[in-house]
Amino acid sequence: MLDLSTMPVVDNHCHPVLTNQRMDVLQLRRHFTEANAASLAERHVPNTVYYLWMIRQMASFYNCACNEDAVIAARSSVSANGLLERLVGEAAIDTLVLDAAYPAPEECYTPEHMSAVAGCRTVKLLRLETLMQRLVVAYDDFDEVIARFTEHVSTLREKGYCAFKSIVAYRTGLDVAEWSKDEAALSFAEARAEAVRKGQLRIAHKPLIDYLLHITFASAAEQQVAVQFHTGYGDGSVNMLLGNPLQLRAVLERHDYRTMPIVLLHESYPYTQLGAYLATIYPHVYFDLSYTIPFVDKLEMLAFTRQALSVAPASKLMYSSDGIYVPEMHWAAALRGRQVIGQVLQEMIDADEMDQEQAYYLAHLVLHDTAYSVYKL
Ligand SMILES: [Zn+2]
Repeated sequence: MLDLSTMPVVDNHCHPVLTNQRMDVLQLRRHFTEANAASLAERHVPNTVYYLWMIRQMASFYNCACNEDAVIAARSSVSANGLLERLVGEAAIDTLVLDAAYPAPEECYTPEHMSAVAGCRTVKLLRLETLMQRLVVAYDDFDEVIARFTEHVSTLREKGYCAFKSIVAYRTGLDVAEWSKDEAALSFAEARAEAVRKGQLRIAHKPLIDYLLHITFASAAEQQVAVQFHTGYGDGSVNMLLGNPLQLRAVLERHDYRTMPIVLLHESYPYTQLGAYLATIYPHVYFDLSYTIPFVDKLEMLAFTRQALSVAPASKLMYSSDGIYVPEMHWAAALRGRQVIGQVLQEMIDADEMDQEQAYYLAHLVLHDTAYSVYKL
């Protein structure tokens, strides 16, 4: 098999880990499901193939018995810093591209702290819907929100971010439409009323989100910075029909947005072939191959990696973990991603599709170089 075990990786989409790494079995399980219903963690996560594999990997890393209690006890004997340093160190990660707005920053390592402890570079994404929510809670005037939002997104790099990230797929869907300012203002009034009533806001107001996204797209195109979109699997509240990357067509077709690289996250699972197709056709569309979340087993990882590499140029593909909460996720994805990509490329060598030198070159694009170029690292 093609050995990629020493090739450094850029994890182009992941999250900070919790500063408190002490947890019980149920809390650990909760980190390994995207389902909202509690019964999934309680009764079904331990019967999920990905989780069974993960417990075995952790047991072998911590050199303990292969069960949840032993793993919890072993990792609890190491400090949070120690876990981060050992796991990320072993994973040979070059750069973590972090969405530091989720989980709640007060519970997590900052990107700077994470970099210092883990011994790798970290860069940041600006999560758009979190910014929108914060502004709607803070200001009661729509023009003021627009002005502050525009100022924020138009100075992205100055503010220390390398790209935008949108979770619109989980809120109102990827079919981002064009609305008049009056329609957006009505939607803002509803969102603002909710923010005042509850003291916080979970933004899910379509004309408002879409309107602010179009401001972002124009600015991203002008600055030539990338926008990541969550697509497919990744949040229990998504309407999967609206998480289909084909829903982005109106945005993809806008010629004035073509200088904005668009990254479809989570291999658009289960729409992998559709997402990879878009990366094959549209010059500015890139495709993320994520090896922790979605929580699928190795056979499915081989399948989505084959589907992507079979059609899309490797210079359009990028590795990630979507690791979050615990550093084992970032670590496991790096080990597994290299293994799976290595195995698929070896199959392609065996099928006489390429030689070994070409396979190493393509692997380097997926694991490292494509991300360097898309995010100008
Ligand atoms: Zn994410």
